[in-house]
Amino acid sequence: MRAVDVIMKKRDGGELSREEIALVVDGYVSGAVPDYQVSAWLMAVFFGGMTARETADLTDLMLNSGSVMDLSGIAGPFVDKHSTGGVGDKVSLVLAPMAAACGLKVPMMSGRALGHTGGTLDKLESIPGYRTSLTEAEFRALIERDGYAMTGQTATTVPADKKLYALRDVTGTVESVPLITASILSKKVAEGAEALVFDVKCGPGAFMKTIEGAEALAQSLARTGKAMGKKIVSVITDMTEPLGFKVGNFLEVEESLDCLEGRGPADLMELSYVLGAWMLVAGGLKKDSAEARRGCEEAISSGRALELFMKNVVGQGGDPDRMLQLRGKARSRHSLELKAKAEGFLSIDAYKIGLAGVRLGVGRDKTSDPVFPDVGFEFFRKSGARVAAGERLGLMYGKDEASLEAARSLVEEALSVCSEPPERRPLVIKEIIA
Ligand code: URA
Repeated sequence: MRAVDVIMKKRDGGELSREEIALVVDGYVSGAVPDYQVSAWLMAVFFGGMTARETADLTDLMLNSGSVMDLSGIAGPFVDKHSTGGVGDKVSLVLAPMAAACGLKVPMMSGRALGHTGGTLDKLESIPGYRTSLTEAEFRALIERDGYAMTGQTATTVPADKKLYALRDVTGTVESVPLITASILSKKVAEGAEALVFDVKCGPGAFMKTIEGAEALAQSLARTGKAMGKKIVSVITDMTEPLGFKVGNFLEVEESLDCLEGRGPADLMELSYVLGAWMLVAGGLKKDSAEARRGCEEAISSGRALELFMKNVVGQGGDPDRMLQLRGKARSRHSLELKAKAEGFLSIDAYKIGLAGVRLGVGRDKTSDPVFPDVGFEFFRKSGARVAAGERLGLMYGKDEASLEAARSLVEEALSVCSEPPERRPLVIKEIIA
C-alpha cells in the first residue's frame, strides 16, 4: 500500500482502515510521507469526511504519536474542560480553581491565542512571574497539592497534531469536523483526563458559525470521546458577542478575579457555573447538574475557589501582590475612547473585536508574534443595551498609536447601533451527554 492509494481511496469516498490512516499519520510524523501528499489527503478528508470509526482511529493514532501524562498515584477524578475558542473567554481561569475546590483534579493543558481567539496561556502569563511551561513533575505536584495546574503542551504531547495542525492552517483544511475532533481529543486524552466537558462555541466569534456546524462538532467530540472510554459532556454555547466586559490578557485576569469573588459579569458567571456543574457530574462527584451547580456556587461564595487561584499563582511562580497592585491599572498609555455612532440598540460583533484585538497586540497572526499584557478592550455596555448617540461604550488599548489606528475601522464596524434590539440566542444552546 502506498500513500497515494490511501489518498485516492478517500478522494473517491472510501472508508479507510486503521492501517491506511496509520500509513499517513505515522508516515508524516516519521518523515516517510511528504507534506504534499498529506496536504492532498487532508483535503480529501475535508471534502469526504470520516466515519465515526475512522475519526476514533485517527484520534487514537494521533494520541499514540506521543506520550500520555502519567497521573498514577494521585487520587482523581481527573476532569478537564476545553473550549473550541472564543473572544473574551476567560472561563478556564475561573473554572479550574472552582472545580478543584469542589474536589475534582483538573490537569489543564491550554493553548495560546491564534487568529481572532484568545489563549489561556497568554492570559496567565500576563500575571507577573507566572510560568506555563511546567515540567511533568511540577504539573503532578501542583495537581496533587491544589487540585489543579495550568500548563502548555510539552514537546512530547501529540507530535502528530503539531505537524498536522500547522499543515491544516496553510492548506485551508482547519474547519473539518473529524480533523478538529481528532486534534482536540488526542491532546485532551494525552493530559490524563478521565472525563471531559467541551464548550463548543457557536456564532460569528467561533470556528463553527452555525448551530448545525456546532452540533456536528459537539456530537463528534461526544461520540469519539466515548469510544475512547471517556465520559463526555458537550455544551454548545453562544459566541455572538465577547464574553464579559473585558477582552485582553491582563484585562481578562482582572475579570476572572471578579468572578472568583462572586461579582463577575452575568454571562461569565453563568457559563462558569454551567460548565463547572457538568464537570462535577462527568467526574461522578454529583448526581445531577442542579446539585452540582449549588456546589460550584458554594465554592465561589465561600472564597475557596479564590484561595486556590491565589495558591496556584504562587505555585506557578507568579507574584500575587503585584497582580493585585496592577488590577485596574495595567493599561497601555495608547488608548482610544469608543462612542456610540447613533441612538438605538447596541450590537457587539465578537469576531471583529477578536480580529481588532490581534492588531492591538492581544493575540497573534503567527505563533512567533509577541502578545502584550496591557492591551485590549474594556466595554461599558453589552449587546442589546439601549444607548444614546455619542455615549461612551468603552475603551481600547493598543501596543502603540499605529495599532489603535489599525484597529479603529474594524472596531467601528464591530459596534453597530440599530433601531431594533439584536436577535439574541440563549447563552447555553444545547447540552449533549455521552
Ligand atoms: N483547536 C484545536 O486544537 N484543533 C483544531 O483542529 C481546531 C481547534
